[in-house]
Amino acid sequence: MKGQMMNVPLTITEIMRHADKVNGDTEVVSVTYDNPRHKYTLNDAFKRTRQLANALQSLGLEKGQRIATFAWNDYRHLELYYAISCSGAVLHTVNPRLFPEQIEYIVNHAEDTVVFFDPVFAPLIEKLQHNFPSVRHYVALCDKAHLPDVNIANLTDYESLIDDQSDEFDWPELAEDDASSLCYTSGTTGHPKGVLYSHRSTVLHSLGSALPDAFSLSIDQTVMPIVPMFHVNGWGLAYSAPMTGTKLVMPGPKMADGVVLSDLINSEGVTMTAGVPVVWLMLLEHLKNNDIQVPTLDRIVVGGSACPELLINEFDELFNVSVHHAWGMTEMSPLGTFNKLKPSLKQQSEKEQMNYKLKQGRIVFGVDMRIEDWQGQEVEWDGHQFGAVKVRGPWIASGYYKQGESVDDNGYFDTGDVASVDPHGYMLITDRSKDVIKSGGEWISSIELENIAVGHPDIKEAAVIGVPHKKWGERPLLIAVTHDVEISAEALLDHFDGKVAKFCIPDAVEFIKELPHTATGKLSKKDLRSKYADYILG
Ligand code: ADP
Repeated sequence: MKGQMMNVPLTITEIMRHADKVNGDTEVVSVTYDNPRHKYTLNDAFKRTRQLANALQSLGLEKGQRIATFAWNDYRHLELYYAISCSGAVLHTVNPRLFPEQIEYIVNHAEDTVVFFDPVFAPLIEKLQHNFPSVRHYVALCDKAHLPDVNIANLTDYESLIDDQSDEFDWPELAEDDASSLCYTSGTTGHPKGVLYSHRSTVLHSLGSALPDAFSLSIDQTVMPIVPMFHVNGWGLAYSAPMTGTKLVMPGPKMADGVVLSDLINSEGVTMTAGVPVVWLMLLEHLKNNDIQVPTLDRIVVGGSACPELLINEFDELFNVSVHHAWGMTEMSPLGTFNKLKPSLKQQSEKEQMNYKLKQGRIVFGVDMRIEDWQGQEVEWDGHQFGAVKVRGPWIASGYYKQGESVDDNGYFDTGDVASVDPHGYMLITDRSKDVIKSGGEWISSIELENIAVGHPDIKEAAVIGVPHKKWGERPLLIAVTHDVEISAEALLDHFDGKVAKFCIPDAVEFIKELPHTATGKLSKKDLRSKYADYILG
């Protein structure tokens, strides 16, 4: 027997309709290239979104076409998010920080027809335009007066494009499984791969991530996303904030500017903000050095890489701000887990509580997770055994754009992360599958060893990779950067005694001046592995 409920498609258009009708007076604040503080309401935003949708029609937009944006977080990017997807086209957010060859690859792979870009990226676009054969129009995200002085074919400014357009637009009826947006993973190996979100996945992710034990969004909240809208979907906040009537504060190109961020927090009453650890380390320094308090700020969500203990401690003790660890990835829209302590855990010692807070958190409804050992057997959630993290759910990619399915026989997607889960359901990432060191039938976590190494006062940064070993298959090699001081390999290895099992202690240490990083700032173990491919231990 079938249920007798209405089959209304879950589309981003419905988020927009609801937000326009119910949360229309919610404020949206932006810093842009041409305005240090732009303010308007969601009603204003959607009026301009309709004008933009008309402008897109005039450019010959067709259903399913990919439209690229190279843009920071601001109100014009927000309008593009809705106008493109709700017109039935696909919003392709491009990460301008990728290497030019990668950008060229993804624009061609996506066959983008129009490129919208922030004027700061004009030199990049000017240089690459001749390698973008599918692109017919370029639009700079500014008004006529700020149009950059560059030589780009078919270039218009955004304000002139939408200015004369009607603010009435008849949104097409879309199917909920229609593609809405496209985001490429930076791909530490091989070419970047496209993750193609649907309207349905976006709506469900917005609902799931807004829940009280995740981002906890509501009409009395003000959120400042520091996760770029061009990377991992901006953690979906451009959808979930309007859906819930949460005020949005977007710092545009000033994401790494402590003065602008602290000023936005205090003048706009920001209650929640989200981003990667390096942003928060920078903001923490800025607040401490300038003796600034942030009384409205209630919580910070940290993800993208592991959250340092110092962030949790100092934001709590000095600013009364709680730091929540979250985990996810482009293929997961991105939210997978969120860390909020269960009331029963708050009875434990501070040290115990910190152990939990440092974990990546518990899966949110909508994401199912299995941890598998290297024989593919599911491991118990006992907090000790670790294995490959596999996920399944309505906002998890089933494959990559123009490639086949990428799920296993059980219908799960392999995240490439390695983790344990404790009996309370808190997941702890211990490694990436390709970085874990497989030594004589045991897995050794490279991350655990790196954390111990940087715990030594003389060590600034450290990486551990597996190098081939005749007897054990692989053994760990520690590569370290010191704070410009002399330290012997023996002294550094002594520091591991008692902190991990003996068989996990690295066999050797190499000191280097600098570690290689990827375009998105992550440690590039791929480069280290090729550098030390012929390394002989002993
Ligand atoms: P890219 O590889 O394109 O940068 P993502 O930004 O989607 O892709 O990165 C996702 C990966 O980042 C995850 O698979 C995981 O390895 C890492 N990651 C994300 N959040 C966390 C976290 N809280 N702690 C540790 N690692 C994380």
